[in-house]
Amino acid sequence: MVKINETKMKGKKYDPFIEATFQYERAANKLDLEPWIYNRLKHAERELTVHMTITRDNGKVETFTGYRVQHSTLRGPGKGGIRYSPDASLSECKALAAWMTWKTAVLDLPLGGAKGAVICNPPEMSECELEKLTKEYTYSIKDIIGPQKDIPAPDVWTNAQTMAWICDAYSRYVGHFEPAVVTGKPVCLGGSLGRSQATGLGMYYTLLETSKHLEFPLEGKKVAIIGYGNVGSSIARLLHEYGCKIVAITDLYGGIHSKNGITIPELDAYVAQRKTVKGFNKHDSITNDELLEMKCDILLPCAMEGMIHEGNADKIKASIVCEGANGPTTTEADEILVNKKVFIIPDILANAGGVTVSYLEWVQDVQRIFYEEEEVKNRCWKMMQRSFWDVIRVSEKHKTDTRNAAYILAVQRVADSVRLFGKIGRN
Ligand code: GLU
Repeated sequence: MVKINETKMKGKKYDPFIEATFQYERAANKLDLEPWIYNRLKHAERELTVHMTITRDNGKVETFTGYRVQHSTLRGPGKGGIRYSPDASLSECKALAAWMTWKTAVLDLPLGGAKGAVICNPPEMSECELEKLTKEYTYSIKDIIGPQKDIPAPDVWTNAQTMAWICDAYSRYVGHFEPAVVTGKPVCLGGSLGRSQATGLGMYYTLLETSKHLEFPLEGKKVAIIGYGNVGSSIARLLHEYGCKIVAITDLYGGIHSKNGITIPELDAYVAQRKTVKGFNKHDSITNDELLEMKCDILLPCAMEGMIHEGNADKIKASIVCEGANGPTTTEADEILVNKKVFIIPDILANAGGVTVSYLEWVQDVQRIFYEEEEVKNRCWKMMQRSFWDVIRVSEKHKTDTRNAAYILAVQRVADSVRLFGKIGRN
């Protein structure tokens, strides 16, 4: 029998891994998992820390630290992005790797969960430095990644170019072109059509299903978005085209709001040049805290972990929160939102469009057969739709909120595999 709150220590500084473990424990408890299965899934299979030394453009030699954590490779190769960030840490990587295991399981993909990171600050680095660092990092983790072992992908501050460098370094190591070692590559190197917009598209599909489930038409609804990178901008475009009013957006440098709605295609042209939404069209400025508190129908957190917390959750007025980021809501905040009857589309479902199309990219690379964009979108739509209703059914069956339901569904699927493989001879 698993004790709830075993890991969560109230009053402690925000720690993503403690959050992730608590979410897992809550679902494991509901399922009354056997202790041996519970313990096996609580910890990552492997946590690798690496150090890479490169010569910077100014001639100075610098050492960087990176990680690759494989939480589970039980149902298939580890799968998950690599993020570049000055705030990256092993604890964050462990949380993100576990979230990937649950995400691939919610979607019932034949993949496990993993995550990587390098502590660095890309906006302050040249293209050449980033290429060197990426290739050194790839070399450092080369023995534990591969098309049948663990398949990285883009995440915060990494993109198709980063994946092309990883593909190059890995291909040279194995002695032949191996596109299936990473997903989110440029299309000309075996990337999938539709991959770059896939996370936003997946969020959009979950919102369409939510609209049916709650009988809540999306037309004219007010939307606020935190984070305007790849995910935030793709979902903004789709909802704007659908007829929603995007009333506020913030990014790393500032934010804008407009009661009448922001014109997204014009904003995108502006962001392409200025790299920020700040200052667009003389709209009034807004901070993250103000955005969270403003009157809107749908809130889309698409930036980092822990941005919805105990201190601001109560002030949220949106009736739907669709999580584009991984882990944007702390456990305390989650409880507040659930009590306020906010409908949450949890991260492991809401942002799973990215890994779903990554899965399709891997399938295409392994077979060397490539799909039209329509086919990719259709397959992704069907998989997201099926998973959404799976989560709703579990939430009705267990009389629980959607986040806990998504975890119950995922933990059940992975636990069933562990049980079938048996206790002996595996760690
Ligand atoms: N980084 C994305 C995520 O957190 C995509 C992972 C992938 O495609 O493997 O879901």
